Amino acid sequence: MVYREQMALAPVIDLHTHSNHSDGTQSPGDVVRSASQAGLDVVALTDHDVASGWAEADAVASEVGLLLVPGIEVSCKTALGISVHMLAYRPDPLSAAFLGSMEQVREFRADRLRRQVDLLRKDGFRVELAEMLAHAQPGATLGRPHLADALVRAGHFANRDEAFAQILGAGKPYYLPVDAPDPVDVVQMIRAAGGVPVMAHPFASLRGRVVSDAVIHELTEAGLAGLEADHRDHDEAARKHARQLAATLGLLVTGSSDYHGTGKLNALAENTSSLEVLEALMQQGTGSPLMGTGALPTRA
Ligand code: AMP
Ligand code: ZN
Ligand code: FE
Ligand code: FE
Repeated sequence: MVYREQMALAPVIDLHTHSNHSDGTQSPGDVVRSASQAGLDVVALTDHDVASGWAEADAVASEVGLLLVPGIEVSCKTALGISVHMLAYRPDPLSAAFLGSMEQVREFRADRLRRQVDLLRKDGFRVELAEMLAHAQPGATLGRPHLADALVRAGHFANRDEAFAQILGAGKPYYLPVDAPDPVDVVQMIRAAGGVPVMAHPFASLRGRVVSDAVIHELTEAGLAGLEADHRDHDEAARKHARQLAATLGLLVTGSSDYHGTGKLNALAENTSSLEVLEALMQQGTGSPLMGTGALPTRA
């Protein structure tokens, strides 16, 4: 799959990005165009709980000469109510159990946003469900960023970050949790669908409570392949802890941008993964083909 000899420089690999099929601001094709312009060789599109952006991203990746890794960032929640995001690389998006589970989460997310709009309207915020949905891509996985954008358009906040910091973040007055399957079940579902599970930003404590190492032991026994250590929401201590735990458990270590277009500050390739890790991950994935060039692009 990989032509290491032909790569004069180490390839630039970013395994976590979002389009407007969830809470990113660009179309899947534009995410890939931006990735190409940013000098990436390999990009994974990992929208929340949905694979609907893959086809468009695939077409553009072929055009611009990028290896596209089809992925999904799957919402999970532990028994203690802690939110976990599980990246799934190369799962079969038609796997019935997996698809059904994600569809349930997507419906819950839509309902949760309706409830949040109701709460906000009762308190005088000028947000409307119809206006918010009109600005979202039809069928997009809805999340707090869509609500934050509506609040920004209504003039309540300057940007998404401000809306999260003041009222939508964990522990803030209009925060509501997402109901989602247990991460152990999700890891097993991803494996059953031929995918490779990597836990996203495992120690991002700014976002809320994080899981104990014991949970990651349990996830490893269930089939977890890796931990995303290099991520903007991890400080040095969190990155180091993730690397040490990965070494203890025999997990792969990734780094990625979690790019959301203009929806967040995160810049493509601000954190990256190594070629060795990419190869090891891709060898474990059998549920869907690699897309775009289908192999590492060769540089002129
Ligand atoms: P939700 O999945 O609806 O709970 O919303 C969480 C998502 O919001 C995360 O996956 C991020 O993409 C995004 N997010 C979290 N914090 C912020 C922030 N401060 N500014 C913009 N987006 C954020
Ligand atoms: Zn997101
Ligand atoms: Fe995430
Ligand atoms: Fe993400």
